[in-house]
Amino acid sequence: MKYRRLGKSGVKVSEIALGSWLTYGTVTEKEQAIACVKQAYDLGINHFDCANVYGSVPHAAEEVLGEALAPYPRESYILTTKAFWPVGDGVNDRGLSRKHIVSEVEKSLRALGVDYVDIFYCHRYDPETDLEETLRAIDDLITQGKILYAGFSEWPAHKIAEGVRLQKELGLHKFVASQPVYNMFNRYIESAVIPLCDEAGIGQVVFSPLAQGVLTGKYKRGQQAPAGSRAATDQVKKFVERYLTDENLARVERLEGVAKELGITLPQLALAWVLRLPSISSALIGASRPEQIVENVKAVDVELDESVLEKIEEILKS
Ligand code: NDP
Repeated sequence: MKYRRLGKSGVKVSEIALGSWLTYGTVTEKEQAIACVKQAYDLGINHFDCANVYGSVPHAAEEVLGEALAPYPRESYILTTKAFWPVGDGVNDRGLSRKHIVSEVEKSLRALGVDYVDIFYCHRYDPETDLEETLRAIDDLITQGKILYAGFSEWPAHKIAEGVRLQKELGLHKFVASQPVYNMFNRYIESAVIPLCDEAGIGQVVFSPLAQGVLTGKYKRGQQAPAGSRAATDQVKKFVERYLTDENLARVERLEGVAKELGITLPQLALAWVLRLPSISSALIGASRPEQIVENVKAVDVELDESVLEKIEEILKS
């Protein structure tokens, strides 16, 4: 495994991180989830992502991840959670108010079975809460030692800029992590989010680097999704379907040719492509089986030269 600094913070995270959305506490059996986390840890992954809403009910994925990580020394891994999305029907069961953030962090700590999380993310921007209220609540949680670092996920660029400016003005702890989607099919962060975050010392922990499995080559044009895959699982298939267009599947066929010429697999190519940017701190994968993690981590040893990157650009533009 290789490690990078999380933005300009001093903490180092593995280039490949493991998340639990749509898998642990949802469709993956607990034993299998624990086997995946063990495999990841044994391969040097030290960065594990979760959220209060992951799992079949709120905090379900956190319970599984907490149990899976329990055997390992707490200081040896970076554990994250998030809040924003609704966890109930109450008017305060959502958003980024001080009330909701504090009560959700408490519940997350209990579900994970830990005294602190390393990174707390604001899962989306909340237009119904004054930004200063959110930033002060996070700052207090950091001061109390319940969270060590903070970040945001998929905030619009101008709101990231406003948050960074306010934290500076008010002398609050600064954001160190941004968690947006980034893969060969979705590159929106390249234009505004990355330059802004680079300047502010915020690292990118990018989710769905394999486009939810489409960039592994297992989905083929005109064929049914393989049994057991996300696209063949009723509970979760709607999320991956957005990537399963004929155009993307045609690109995947050509990208597989590039991977083959390099003697690597398509997921390794897709992850090495994400990691080509120094602004990326971790590529945040999901895995339903330990073998997927074994295959994917090999991407950290793949260097893509200019001619390969140009070939990929040409395919992505086609
Ligand atoms: P990926 O793009 O890495 O897709 C992961 C899925 O692809 C796996 O669950 C598996 O699905 C399949 N897969 C992975 N490796 C292989 C392989 N080598 N061969 C075949 N299939 C493979 O990421 P996700 O979209 O799952 O997101 C990763 C993490 O990012 C989440 O767990 C979560 O922590 C975070 N996230 C954050 C969001 C946010 O709003 N902040 C939103 C979405 C995700 P299967 O075997 O079931 O087909």
